[in-house]
Amino acid sequence: MAALSDSFVSDLCEWIRIPSIGVDPAHLADVRRSAEWLAERLTADGWPEVEVWDDGPALPAVFACWPARDPEAPTVLVYGHHDVQPVDPLEKWAHPPFEPLISGDEIRGRGASDDKGQVAMHLLAVRAHLAATGQDAPSVTLKLFIEGEEESGSPHLRKLLEDRGSQLECDLVVFTDTALHERDAPTVNTGQRGVLGAEITFDGGTDDVHSGRAGGAIPNPATALAKLIAALHDDDGRILLDGFYDDVAEPSTREREDYAALPFDEQDWLKRNGGGAQKTHGEPGYTTYERLWVRPTAEVNGISGGYTGPGFKTIIPATATAKISFRLVPHQHPDKVKDQLERFVARHTPEGITATTTIRGEGVPPYAISPDDPANAAVKEAVELAFDQPVRFARAGGSGPAAVLQQRLGVPLVYLGATLPDDRVHAPNERVVVPLLLKGAEAAAHLWRMLAETAIAKRLS
Ligand SMILES: [Zn+2]
Repeated sequence: MAALSDSFVSDLCEWIRIPSIGVDPAHLADVRRSAEWLAERLTADGWPEVEVWDDGPALPAVFACWPARDPEAPTVLVYGHHDVQPVDPLEKWAHPPFEPLISGDEIRGRGASDDKGQVAMHLLAVRAHLAATGQDAPSVTLKLFIEGEEESGSPHLRKLLEDRGSQLECDLVVFTDTALHERDAPTVNTGQRGVLGAEITFDGGTDDVHSGRAGGAIPNPATALAKLIAALHDDDGRILLDGFYDDVAEPSTREREDYAALPFDEQDWLKRNGGGAQKTHGEPGYTTYERLWVRPTAEVNGISGGYTGPGFKTIIPATATAKISFRLVPHQHPDKVKDQLERFVARHTPEGITATTTIRGEGVPPYAISPDDPANAAVKEAVELAFDQPVRFARAGGSGPAAVLQQRLGVPLVYLGATLPDDRVHAPNERVVVPLLLKGAEAAAHLWRMLAETAIAKRLS
């Protein structure tokens, strides 16, 4: 592994230098260059089938396949992405984001952690796996599907999975875009929450009016919208959309025990994750980790309406708007929550106000896999071997296309990631911890061997 790790670092730095900001059309050529860079790297590594998919509406994706020597061996598809987040505010970076900096055991630069580092980790894993086994092909048939528009919300993923379904056929998906819980508390992720975003606008009339001439005599859209927002939760923080909790699955005892065993210090957690918040808060009966991983949320992301400039302007605003997002957990469905929200808005729209609810896209469904699933047990064993310590299960509070992949491909999906929650992804000064990626690569190499060897292989193939 040591011999491989030098070239791993220089390769990853070379890839980070390509500013593949997918959400910015000005960087389209860079996203293409990033896909081509990866394709060339894979070809150089000996992957026999490598393709850049760049003939549809989706930003360039990379597909590769390396058939196992044994045609009966299971097929594993690794999913990741090579597009990166924008870099603003640029002035908060301590160094240029696309000029990677090696500092101690970290590589700093945009995409180092999310997600180029983790994709590179899987490339290294295959090299290590071949070196360790002395084989010229992997023990399982490996497929790689590296998307180019994950940071844009994967708008064409469903279509890609439809069009390329036969090429992507597999027995197991390994999703590589989540983090370990902590450096000293490695975890295997078992799920991500879904998300549904909505914008609600309350219109009273066509113009702002004098609050003396009309005040008290017509409805105020801002007051009405504030009441709607206040009605979203009860005093315990439970969400009051009718039927919202009907499909919510409680975590298993094993999951709750695992979460409880993870280190948690409120002040430390707040410092690293709370953006200056003074205390944790949430539904009674659930720990902070449970609130984050297995409970759904409704959060107001922004409210606007009326006059907010300097001084005073005594008006009744014509209109008020709120942006709200819901994080969803198994087995909630974005479509159903959308209907529940629309009914809630209708119920809380007073006479004389016109409400418009705009849903952002289709929403992202939640996903979770049982810790007891055999494929997941294999991941845990592989991570324990590589990190040489006991590993717990955890989930992620954020969202990703795991459910879409799992549903379209019709096979189990497991997570294998080796980055950290404080890698400052999507933020200035993103970094990745190299020794963790090396261990992650080792875990993946163990996993390929184990999947081929064990009974899981039989079940999957
Ligand atoms: Zn990502």
